Amino acid sequence: MAWDVVVIGGGIAGVSVACELAASRSVLLVEAEPMLAAHTTGRSAAIFAPTYGGPAVRALTAASLARFDAALLSPRPLLWVGTVGEAIAAGAREITVAQACELCPTLRPEAVRAAALDEGTRDVDAMGLHQGYVRGLKAAGGEVRKCARVTGLTRDGTGWRVSLGTEEIQTGLVVDAAGAWADRVAALAGVPTIGLRPLRRTVAIAVGGPVDPSWPLVVDGGDRFYFRPEGPGVLVSPVDETPSEPMDAKPDELDVALAMQRVNEVTTLALRSVRTAWAGLRSFVDDRAPVVGEVPGHPGFAYFAGQGGYGIQLAPALAAAGAAIILGDPVPADIAITADEIAPARLFAG
Ligand SMILES: Cc1cc2nc3c(=O)[nH]c(=O)nc-3n(C[C@H](O)[C@H](O)[C@H](O)COP(=O)(O)OP(=O)(O)OC[C@H]3O[C@@H](n4cnc5c(N)ncnc54)[C@H](O)[C@@H]3O)c2cc1C
Repeated sequence: MAWDVVVIGGGIAGVSVACELAASRSVLLVEAEPMLAAHTTGRSAAIFAPTYGGPAVRALTAASLARFDAALLSPRPLLWVGTVGEAIAAGAREITVAQACELCPTLRPEAVRAAALDEGTRDVDAMGLHQGYVRGLKAAGGEVRKCARVTGLTRDGTGWRVSLGTEEIQTGLVVDAAGAWADRVAALAGVPTIGLRPLRRTVAIAVGGPVDPSWPLVVDGGDRFYFRPEGPGVLVSPVDETPSEPMDAKPDELDVALAMQRVNEVTTLALRSVRTAWAGLRSFVDDRAPVVGEVPGHPGFAYFAGQGGYGIQLAPALAAAGAAIILGDPVPADIAITADEIAPARLFAG
């Protein structure tokens, strides 16, 4: 069977844009792994932070809020702390150190120099979001194939022949939502690559002293750590960005130890042991905005990549805007970005 669209990648990027496209096109989603969301999507910290990222990311995050099923979001204020005198994120309200310690009494007042609060931050049910898009895709007649790695992409008339090993599928439009592998997929098609850089980020659940589930998400303004309550422990990250090849990322135990050490320095938590740890690849282009649409001169091949560290929080608006851009329709009016801001062409200018 020939499909109007083949979407490559079963993470949040692929399932969200496939679901939007399936409203008006026949869509097949192919995923290399035996399960969906096996790579970056299954490894996120599941935070929705409106003050995080550059202008395009913030506009997409803001427009996503109303598009989220409210049941998938729960309040979790973000407390920015300056531990070595760094600037605090724009958009957050400055508060005193005493107020910060009242919100999160495990903080050591002598370790905090400045603080600011963003009350618009939320926890996200990231897997609930992902599953909702898979259900939506299937309800619209779309199909999902797992264990289906794209091994070749050949131009065929006005469309493409997609090779899955020995099997071949015809389509008019290929959407490259392959996460850290997006440049590899483009190279299969002979389409210019976008300079995507996968950066490893580590997260662990650590246990030590008592934890209050109502504590905020605490983020160091100098990008040294973040932590938040997670069951009887805390979720910690050293906010690492280690360059990597596209791969099944694994946590380095030194990164885990660094996260615990940095959190122990500013709190009374006395984290001692690690319950579990994982790592994933956050993939960025140079300006750290997503990359959506066709590369000029290569019709029928569209990127939907470069979601970096924001792919969950901006998914609803990026999928709606992305589907419109890919089909040549206007970006929905409530999403305050232009197609040019996220177009691949910006990366080739000059
Ligand atoms: C530790 C960590 C914390 C994070 N925290 C947050 C957060 O709090 N909030 C937030 O919004 N974002 C967060 N992110 C970022 C977010 O997780 C990503 O932006 C998002 O998951 C990227 O989704 P994706 O679909 O592009 O990539 P992926 O989920 O990696 O999906 C890409 C898929 O493409 C498949 N694929 C690759 N090549 C092929 C091929 N040839 N054929 C078929 N399939 C192929 C892969 O198998 C993979 O499943 C975090 C990321 C990490 C690592």
